[in-house]
Amino acid sequence: MRIDILSALPRLLDSYFNESILRRAQQKGLAEVHVHDLRDFSEDKHRRVDDYPFGGGAGMVMSVQPIHKAITALKSERHYDEVIYMSPDGELLDQPLVNRMSSLRNIIILCGHYKGVDERVREHLVTREVSIGDYVLSGGELPAAVLSDALIRLLPGVLGDETSALSDSFQDGLVAPPAYTRPEQYGDWQVPGVLLSGHEARIHEWRLQQSLERTRQRRPGMLKDEK
Ligand code: SAH
Repeated sequence: MRIDILSALPRLLDSYFNESILRRAQQKGLAEVHVHDLRDFSEDKHRRVDDYPFGGGAGMVMSVQPIHKAITALKSERHYDEVIYMSPDGELLDQPLVNRMSSLRNIIILCGHYKGVDERVREHLVTREVSIGDYVLSGGELPAAVLSDALIRLLPGVLGDETSALSDSFQDGLVAPPAYTRPEQYGDWQVPGVLLSGHEARIHEWRLQQSLERTRQRRPGMLKDEK
């Protein structure tokens, strides 16, 4: 999967994509992330990417021109499956949406800033709008990183243990069971005995019961959704 991110503040994204799992995924050639500075595409002599809103009011609006030029340049190089605008009023991101999108090959993610982008960008250039939740952030960079991370960790070979992503919360319609590591006893805090028993079937059953119980407590809607 190749992800091209368009941002007015590209440095915000550097550290996130250059550490840990996301870096390894890129080093292994499983994912490519390219962050582009929208200012590089601005035809304004001060490299501006925003302007005052027509009709007045507070806040700046991101202009069509740099965004259009950046998207056109990328599209001249390869086909893109989606041009995604991160937006608080977009489709809410959840695991089923991430799963569906994880089979895409090339995507562009546009990060807004200020009051957002000129509506004509959304009408004519964007093919999908995604929100990471019903709250407003100051820019689309964190949302773009959230979406990219959720997608990349699903790509085959990215997580060391191939089954690991499948046992995460939401993947089987349940939240994850509790996990423990050494030591067996930390002060008075004990690891549940069944996990130390070596009895695979009992461990499996215990985890399933814990997942069900937690889902009932924390995400009852997920159980009701099941037909
Ligand atoms: N005035 C806009 C908010 C702009 S916030 C409105 O009310 O909808 C500035 C930018 O941050 C947005 O353009 C978007 O790219 C990003 N952003 C903020 N909150 C977000 C969220 N919950 N999900 C996705 N992107 C978000």
